[in-house]
Amino acid sequence: MSRLFDVKDVDRRFYQERLKGFLPEKIIDVHAHVWLKSFRKAPPTGRAVTWPLHVAEENPVEDLIETYELLFPGKSVKPLMFSFVESHEDDFKAANDYVSCAAREHGFAALVFASPQWSAQRLEREIRQGAFLGVKVYLTLSPADIPVDQIRIFDFLPHHQLEVLNERGWIVMLHIPRSGRLRDPVNLADMVEIERRYPNAKVIIAHAGRAYCPEDVGDAFAVLSETKRLLFDISANTNAAVFEQLIRTVGPRRILFGSDLPITRMRMRRICENGNYVNLVPKGLYGDVSDDKHMREVEGEQADALSFFLYEEIDAFRRAAQATGLTPEDVEDVFYGNAVRLIDPNEGRA
Ligand SMILES: [Zn+2]
Repeated sequence: MSRLFDVKDVDRRFYQERLKGFLPEKIIDVHAHVWLKSFRKAPPTGRAVTWPLHVAEENPVEDLIETYELLFPGKSVKPLMFSFVESHEDDFKAANDYVSCAAREHGFAALVFASPQWSAQRLEREIRQGAFLGVKVYLTLSPADIPVDQIRIFDFLPHHQLEVLNERGWIVMLHIPRSGRLRDPVNLADMVEIERRYPNAKVIIAHAGRAYCPEDVGDAFAVLSETKRLLFDISANTNAAVFEQLIRTVGPRRILFGSDLPITRMRMRRICENGNYVNLVPKGLYGDVSDDKHMREVEGEQADALSFFLYEEIDAFRRAAQATGLTPEDVEDVFYGNAVRLIDPNEGRA
C-alpha cells in the first residue's frame, strides 16, 4: 500500500533530534479536520485563504490516523476532530454525520461544525444527537453582506448559541476574524466579553489567535493577561516569540497542542516579511501558487531542507518552552493533560 506522503531523511532527523524526546508518549491533538470532498459544494468565497486546499482536498479519518503514524512514530496520538465547512452550500449534515460516525468508530472526541443560522435548540440537538463535545465555528459562515474585514466573532458565533454552550459547559473552537488578527481591538474586546459573559463555555482560541508574525501581537498579551479561562491552541503557528509571550501571559495550563491537520503535513517553513507571513514551499509541490501572497516556491538546497509545517510548529513551541523554563510536566499538560481535562473531566480529576 502506498503511503499518504513521503517521510524523508530530513524529516526523520528533525523528529529524532528535536521533537521525539520533547514530546510525551501520549498526545491529544485538539484541532484536526476530517472531511470528504463530496461534502464541499461551493468554490472558495474570498473570505479565507485558499492555499490549504493545495495540501489536501479531503482528509478521511483513516488519513488522519496514517498521518499521526507517519509523523509521530512510537507515540499514541488521538484527535479532537471536526469537519471543514466554509459555505452554507456545503453539506453540513453529511459533514457532521461523517465526523460523528468516525468518532464513535475510533473512540475519538469530536465537535459539530455549527451554522450561525441555527437556533439554540437546533444547536443543542445537533450536539447531543452526534455525541459531540461542543462546536467548531468559522468566519466564512457570517452573513454574506458583511465585508471580510468587518466580521465580528458574534457574526458567526451568535449570543444565543453562546448561551447554550455556556449553560452546558461545552467546548468552542474559535478562529478569530479580521486582518488585525490577535492585536485587533474589536477581537480583543469580544474575547474578553465572551470570557466574562460565558464563563462555563470552554473557549479555545485557535492558532494562538492567528498571531503568526510579530506585527500581529500589538498589546494583545497585556489585554489577555486579565483573562482567567480562555484557552489557546498552537495549531498552524510557528512563531516561537509569540508562543513565549503566550506562555508568560496565560501559563501552560491554558495552552493546548493542536495540529490543524491536514494542512500542517505541508512541507514548508514560514517566514515573516513586513508583517506578512510567507510559506516557503518546494517548487511545484503544491500547484500554481504564484497569485498567493502567503506562498513562495524555493528550489535546490533550500527546498531539500524543508520538513513538515507541523514539525516547525512543535519545534517553535519547544524553543519557547525552553526559553520560559517549562518543566516536562508542563509540556505534558500542553500536549496531553489539559486536553484530557477538557474532553474527559472525570479522568482528569484522577
Ligand atoms: Zn483549523
